[in-house]
Amino acid sequence: MSQHPTTDQPAWTATVLGYPRIGPDRETKKALEALWSGRADLAATETALAAVRAGTVRRLNALGLPAHDASIPSSFSAYDQVLDTAVAVGAVPERFADLVGADGRVDLEAYSTIARGRGALAPLEMTKWFDTNYHYLVPEIGPTTAFRSADDRGVREFAEALADGFLTRPVVVGPVTFLLLAKAADGSPEGFAPISRLEDLLGAYEGLLTAYAAAGATWVQLDEPGLVSDSATAGVDGLADLVRGAYERLAAVPGRPRLLVATPYGDAQEFLGALSAVEGIALDLVEGSVPADPSVLAGKTVVGGVVDGHNVWRGDLVQARETLRRLEESAARVVPGTSTSLLHVPHDVSRESALPERLRSWLAFADQKVAEVVLLGRALADSGDAGVTAELAASAAARADRLGAPGVVRPAVRDRLAALTPEAFRRSDYAVRRAAQEEALGLPLLPTTTIGSFPQTPEIRRARSAWSRGELAQEGYEEFLRAEIDRVVRLQEELGLDVLVHGEPERNDMVQYFAEQLDGFAVTEHGWVQSYGSRGVRPPILWGDVTRPAPITVPWSTYTASRTAKPVKGMLTGPVTILAWSFVRDDQPLGDTANQVALALRDEVADLEAAGIGIVQVDEPALRELLPLRTADQAAYLDWSVASFRLATAGAADATQVHTHLCYSEFGEVIEAIDGLDADVTSIEAARSRMEVLEDIARAGFARGIGPGVYDIHSPRVPSVEEVVGLLRSAVASVPARQVWVNPDCGLKTRGYAETTESLRNLVEAARTVRAEL
Ligand code: GLN
Ligand code: ZN
Repeated sequence: MSQHPTTDQPAWTATVLGYPRIGPDRETKKALEALWSGRADLAATETALAAVRAGTVRRLNALGLPAHDASIPSSFSAYDQVLDTAVAVGAVPERFADLVGADGRVDLEAYSTIARGRGALAPLEMTKWFDTNYHYLVPEIGPTTAFRSADDRGVREFAEALADGFLTRPVVVGPVTFLLLAKAADGSPEGFAPISRLEDLLGAYEGLLTAYAAAGATWVQLDEPGLVSDSATAGVDGLADLVRGAYERLAAVPGRPRLLVATPYGDAQEFLGALSAVEGIALDLVEGSVPADPSVLAGKTVVGGVVDGHNVWRGDLVQARETLRRLEESAARVVPGTSTSLLHVPHDVSRESALPERLRSWLAFADQKVAEVVLLGRALADSGDAGVTAELAASAAARADRLGAPGVVRPAVRDRLAALTPEAFRRSDYAVRRAAQEEALGLPLLPTTTIGSFPQTPEIRRARSAWSRGELAQEGYEEFLRAEIDRVVRLQEELGLDVLVHGEPERNDMVQYFAEQLDGFAVTEHGWVQSYGSRGVRPPILWGDVTRPAPITVPWSTYTASRTAKPVKGMLTGPVTILAWSFVRDDQPLGDTANQVALALRDEVADLEAAGIGIVQVDEPALRELLPLRTADQAAYLDWSVASFRLATAGAADATQVHTHLCYSEFGEVIEAIDGLDADVTSIEAARSRMEVLEDIARAGFARGIGPGVYDIHSPRVPSVEEVVGLLRSAVASVPARQVWVNPDCGLKTRGYAETTESLRNLVEAARTVRAEL
């Protein structure tokens, strides 16, 4: 079947599926932002990006991946690998057609426009990449999208490394996943599915493989994670046959490189048999398992993804070696690898000099994970090698050290969790709570509020960074924050909002802020990972049992309450979101870790209540983010995640109103879970869907308070009074008015004051108008 010449390539000893692209000092971000702001021209930007690529290849080689066998991936992207694939196959939406060169090339300027939009040109939509915090750009595919081998950036990057002395392995999003992740272009006929264009798309991939072969590539990696996600594959009939047909066609390309098909983020067992035409398969053996049917691996190079690509812990290499040996019984060749690209972890833990040394010894960032796969390669090659034996023993010792280290297990926390009864997760009946809250709060119908944050002005950022550099003393910083709160309180009173917030000026980030004040977490200095494009996040590391040494938000909320007679809403981040946006310990079930965080928050709720704060909001914007890719796993996830929210909030008295905020409107699949949170008031995104979400809510019989966002905070656009009135009228038409709250879609921290003030003024005015109609 294979058209590939059978001359033997040097066989890989180890590999990784991809490597961080941001650069050890975020060089990619800096280069792109310089281009966007006009501080750098195209040539200078290309030079800066090429330096990141060259540095990556050299680094991977220095860490032990050979220069000449294609085990070093060429996995760079200036913004997003899905966008890279789209431009490589000519799938650029019509509205950007003028930006594409006659040769199909898309320069960085044009590429940035497709990614970020410009003027009236809307960018590609962005959405979450599988179960990670990375976000990709969604291709728009219609019945007439003209696929062809177009932009050849990937081929040029391969050639550039080759000229530098490194034979790398280009990485491209596979054709099936590319279409599964695409959306139907505007104007496509009803029912059109991008996957129906697979045959046409394959022509472009054939051209791509030919171009890589001509440039000297011996292997190409095609990433097919779409195959592990039930939501990506839902509704596609005969997908295994499509996969088989696609790869048979690609395998028939004359003179092509060998093909490695990777299925990261899960288990693609049911599709492996359809990959018989390719030479290599990369399995995620962290989320997935060794195939039950060994025949699907026969004759193949199998990359055993035993080193976790999306956490930061040193792996259990002894167990990993056992897994690889089991694979060796069925595959022609087994290569130790990472489960996913290393895109999801920071570069190098050895730079974290501020972390306690003992904690550091338990961690593996990208470079350490490369060393792990290389070590496993040596272990497979020679089980008697004394050096290897010593290194495996050292790795096992570091893991063992972690399990028993002080702070990893705190008996008091374990005892408290073990003693919990079902009562700890349950509040009184909602009817009882509602009566108590109505009496305590005395709010009007259609109460108005915000989601918590007010604009983070340059002054706030400056003060915070001066304080963190030690240039502004604690006292001065706190005084600054109190003045900021005063301003935000006065503004809210002037605007006539009913429930006030303090504005969150003290928070750098809604998770990091809590992580910094809880025991059991560590924060890094250089631990950036790409969130999307040039944006990065620095997730805290949740390494030990969680406790709250002191109240966190109480001083800010009580100060706020002292400045106004209106009810003030305390503001906390929920346990699921704290886990979702951190690197979480892997030595106990996530549900146990979530409950530990929940207990710390429960104490915070109690302290807020004792200080007279009658409303507490516990944000869970990430509740849906962690939803498992396989439907069969979702119920168990929702059980523990909902339970942890309830544990955090169920200690509140009947009269204390518990709010939650969720950042999305796709309610259908999780509405029962949202109902299960048992919050008194739930605010959600709804402006972009024109409140359609309310029909779902009404259908589900959701009986508690609901605040459908009446304007989109992701844009500076100010909604008119009439527009908000229209949305509120449709809200009260589908849900009883006494349930409806009036609020924006999300927090205001990324907005400016001018549009925030005007938008909130219109929101309050609209609420008054509709209230008068009731
Ligand atoms: N309370 C947070 C804020 O207002 C909520 C942010 C979020 O949901 N992502 O910023
Ligand atoms: Zn939100």
